[in-house]
Amino acid sequence: MDSSPEVKPDPRRALPSVDRVVRALEAGWPSLPVWAAREAARAALTAERERLETSAGTEVPALELLLADAAERAAELARLRPAPVLNATGIVLHTNLGRAPLAAGAAEAVARVARGYTDLELDLGSGQRGERTAPVVEKLRLLAGVPDALAVNNNAAALLLVLATLARGREVIVSRGELVEIGGSFRVPEIMASAGVRLVEVGTTNRTHLSDYGRAIGPDSALLLKVHRSNFSLRGFVAEVALPELAALGRERGLPLVEDLGSGSLVDLSARGFPEETFAPSRLRRGADVVCFSGDKLLGGPQAGIVLTAHTEHAEAMRRNPLSRALRLDKLALAALDWTLAAVLDGRAEREIPVLRRLLEPEEGLERRARALAGRIREFAGPLGPAAERDTTYAGGGALPDFTLPTWAVALRPADGATRLAARLRRADPPVLARIRDDAVLLDLRSVDPGEEESLVTALRGLLR
Ligand SMILES: *Cc1c(COP(=O)(O)O)cnc(C)c1O
Repeated sequence: MDSSPEVKPDPRRALPSVDRVVRALEAGWPSLPVWAAREAARAALTAERERLETSAGTEVPALELLLADAAERAAELARLRPAPVLNATGIVLHTNLGRAPLAAGAAEAVARVARGYTDLELDLGSGQRGERTAPVVEKLRLLAGVPDALAVNNNAAALLLVLATLARGREVIVSRGELVEIGGSFRVPEIMASAGVRLVEVGTTNRTHLSDYGRAIGPDSALLLKVHRSNFSLRGFVAEVALPELAALGRERGLPLVEDLGSGSLVDLSARGFPEETFAPSRLRRGADVVCFSGDKLLGGPQAGIVLTAHTEHAEAMRRNPLSRALRLDKLALAALDWTLAAVLDGRAEREIPVLRRLLEPEEGLERRARALAGRIREFAGPLGPAAERDTTYAGGGALPDFTLPTWAVALRPADGATRLAARLRRADPPVLARIRDDAVLLDLRSVDPGEEESLVTALRGLLR
């Protein structure tokens, strides 16, 4: 035969059809859902066609390789998400990992109301319609010693509602040092624009004085806004106005002072070394008229935005704003929030709320756990040189950028590099998220509950067998 390379048939023609790949997936991987098998077959064949197009001379892969690729794609498509992972990064409030884990009791409260009907908007005594957030508002008032409060979908929603209610069409005065961006999609100037308020920037990036605010106040001013710098810090030649002074200026000129705290606690942690501003009620005592913060940062509850107000009229005006309907909490989050607030009222917060338990765990306890865990890992992963090491970490998640915590970790030093091991750990069962420091993978126990250590060992054992 005298066939020349020029007339060689297009290798793409030799690829199997989508139907054939789907049938083979159904036979070999019967647990894959049909929709995922079909979509994955299409995607695997498209990828293969593109590969053959761009790299001339390559061969059509064996059917088994194509099927393995398609099966992996299908399994990924069919995987339910979000799925649990082990957070061994040491960052207790990790935005990418869903921030605060719920307390076991809060999760049970969610499960109790999830599957049936509830008295969400019904007063069982009178049979009349009730307000869905009334129970959590009651607890917030008791906990914070304030006359009124609101709970909405998240803190961005809380700030939006505060601004749109108290300042729509008017001016809001903010320091240039506080025009922050949090987590990419939350930017203070953009939230202000969507609330329909006009931003008046005062001071400079590093220094803002009381006189800057004073000069900016005019007939169109509606309120003074203070925003917590949750994810960065200013050092060096800096000045900002303390809350009581700003509040005094507001009172003198008839403007309410609103503080977006970002991360607020309802347990006073200042005696435990945490900054004063983390205790939300103290911000109202120091002069703020309205404070808002997230439910799933230091509070340790579900995603929510909490608003505490020193004046009932402010809360009432917000409740009347039609936006509050669009920003309302669903029954699952309300059940978790109500449980969390009850735990704080009962004095069970530190014992039962995971965020507090982990942030407050003493260093000695972490050291003991790290040494024991390193010993267990050495039994099956000796070559990685598991060793307990002291380090420092952060609370994280848009909370307390200057505040470091001592911690203990198990360090692993793989010969082929920390990045590769960290990537393999992300695909373990369950997935493990670790921290890399220099050439070591750190399994930081600050963010790992003692009850999770067993599955951490299981995941490692499965991976390193
Ligand atoms: C985290 C944070 C927000 C956003 O809160 P979400 O609950 O994520 O909407 C807003 N402002 C500040 C200062 C924050 O730290």
